[in-house]
Amino acid sequence: MWAILIEFLVGAILAHLITRIPLLTFPRLRAWNVQFAPHPEPVYVGSHLIQRILHMRAFYWLGLFFALIPLVFGWLSLAYGSAPIGFGMWTVSGWLVLSRVTAFIAGEEHPWTKQLAMRLQLVKNESESDDQCCTFSNPVWEISAVRCTTCGKNLLNIPRPDLGRPRSDGWIRGFVRLLLTDGQPIVASEEEE
Ligand SMILES: [Zn+2]
Repeated sequence: MWAILIEFLVGAILAHLITRIPLLTFPRLRAWNVQFAPHPEPVYVGSHLIQRILHMRAFYWLGLFFALIPLVFGWLSLAYGSAPIGFGMWTVSGWLVLSRVTAFIAGEEHPWTKQLAMRLQLVKNESESDDQCCTFSNPVWEISAVRCTTCGKNLLNIPRPDLGRPRSDGWIRGFVRLLLTDGQPIVASEEEE
């Protein structure tokens, strides 16, 4: 009984890891992050950040294609190898595909939507226009909201999701945290001011 359960868990964890490969690895390459302040410092709201949100969105959806790997190996394992491992892989990757597709149809949001990129673009535009919060407007994304470092005004009340920067808490702890949160912000947004 325990052996079956452990094999099922191994399959499930493997599938969970494989489907997170795009978000966990690709954006964290050194060359991809030279234009950003190191994690967990605030990120300047500019075109690099907006592009990064769209890249994270692409990697999030790429996870669906990576779900094919545990689906195929899970099927092979069910057919020729360990049935519990195969079942574990199928359960997790099947659930991921189902939940992402239904969330997409229902219009629910993952952390890196096009709407978010557009709202950041608006903040950026405003900080460069005549409506800017102060003369030396400098919007940065802090953990809980986008704020101007000069006047301290809250410009966008959205907590910062994972932006794919190498984690300051180290690879292992950072990865465990990302596997648990799936990149969602770990703080709630602030109350409206
Ligand atoms: Zn300001």
